[in-house]
Amino acid sequence: MRKTLKFGGTSVGSAEAMKMVASIIKNEQAQITVLSAMSGSTDALIAITNDELNRIPILEKKYIDCINELLNDKAEAFAALNDCFDVIKNSKNPYKIIAQGEILTTKIFTLYIKEIGMNAELLYAPDFVVTDCEGRASVNTLLLRDDTYYITQGFICCDHLGNIKNLGRGGSDYSAALIGASIESDEVQIWTDIDGMHTGDPRYVKDTHPISEMSFSQAAELAYFGAKILHPSTILPCCEAGIDVLLKNTMDPEAEGTRITHKENEINFLAAASKDNITLIRITSDRMLLAYGFLRRVFEVFERHSTSIDMITTSEVAVSLTVDDTHAIDAIAHELSEYGHIEIETSNAIVCIVGNMAYDNGGMASIVFDTVNKTPIKMISYGASQRSISLLIDSKYKIEMLQNINSLF
Ligand code: ADP
Ligand code: ASP
Ligand code: MG
Repeated sequence: MRKTLKFGGTSVGSAEAMKMVASIIKNEQAQITVLSAMSGSTDALIAITNDELNRIPILEKKYIDCINELLNDKAEAFAALNDCFDVIKNSKNPYKIIAQGEILTTKIFTLYIKEIGMNAELLYAPDFVVTDCEGRASVNTLLLRDDTYYITQGFICCDHLGNIKNLGRGGSDYSAALIGASIESDEVQIWTDIDGMHTGDPRYVKDTHPISEMSFSQAAELAYFGAKILHPSTILPCCEAGIDVLLKNTMDPEAEGTRITHKENEINFLAAASKDNITLIRITSDRMLLAYGFLRRVFEVFERHSTSIDMITTSEVAVSLTVDDTHAIDAIAHELSEYGHIEIETSNAIVCIVGNMAYDNGGMASIVFDTVNKTPIKMISYGASQRSISLLIDSKYKIEMLQNINSLF
């Protein structure tokens, strides 16, 4: 069985954690292993590109300590550290600086597994993970031998002009999915600091538990609506290629984790996720009455400004939409004002409850509304995918609502 494994920041966050990773990839006989940067590196590197130069020595010490603890022969690792920190201190290119976390982490890890006798080769991801002029990512052909543990960087890639770029925060999951699909892996395993996809976000909700299996669509819905364990783009390449995704805990490899396949989990209530910083735009207009073509004109405004819409509800005289990308919100509001009165409300959250919301499974909505009790709801989206209900609320009610909803799972 050919496997692509990905380990996140905490999973490679110390010498001790890296030793765990080595034993896991040996155990799983990983064909290729995708690593994030040691935990905290990307945050620190972004801060450094914003002139927080006091972060440099702290970050450097983290890597020095790791090398000292992990390796017997340290010369090559320290040479790599010097090269990376030379870029961090002197480069004017923020993408190059931010890439050094993954570059140095994979270098140190590869040296370690070679030192313990594993036949390993380090691949430089921007040589084969590329984006086109519209930012779409893909992987060039990779020819891999069976007798080698390949290690590469998640997150970083090369754009169509040959410049180093990245796939966005949390993008190492996406790298692994793209690579796994490209080399036709049988399985992509995402190893992290928790035992799979939980029923709710454990950072906010008490008494969540892991879910053993779900479908690509169910996982995509949760990831898109904020389940941080999985970057939302991860699902599509694996779903298209029919590759199972397994979410596993590096700190507890025996735990079952979550298996994501084509098979739908039929349970009534599966899990909830939430997304913050949502802006609501309400357009009220008498011109909507019995008119056709109104929504097309509204959607065209968002399309012109490359802004995607998350939720939408309509009445005869009003339409409400939500967006999380507000880079063009002023221009959008200005253009929409041609069609009616515009109201904008910031600081909202979408809470998405995933489960069996098929039309013939009556009573689901009423159970949800009983559970959320008197929390004020601004918008409701139900009936599109038949597997979720999404509610828009003021962010201040988010934790309370998530906690109440968790009783359903
Ligand atoms: P990594 O660095 O390994 O990529 P992340 O921090 O990106 O790890 O993702 C794992 C974290 O996602 C968990 O520690 C947890 O706090 C958070 N998380 C949010 N929602 C969920 C959920 N529904 N199930 C599991 N973890 C979740
Ligand atoms: N290191 C990158 C980040 O922190 C990518 C990743 O961890 O997935 O966003
Ligand atoms: Mg992540």
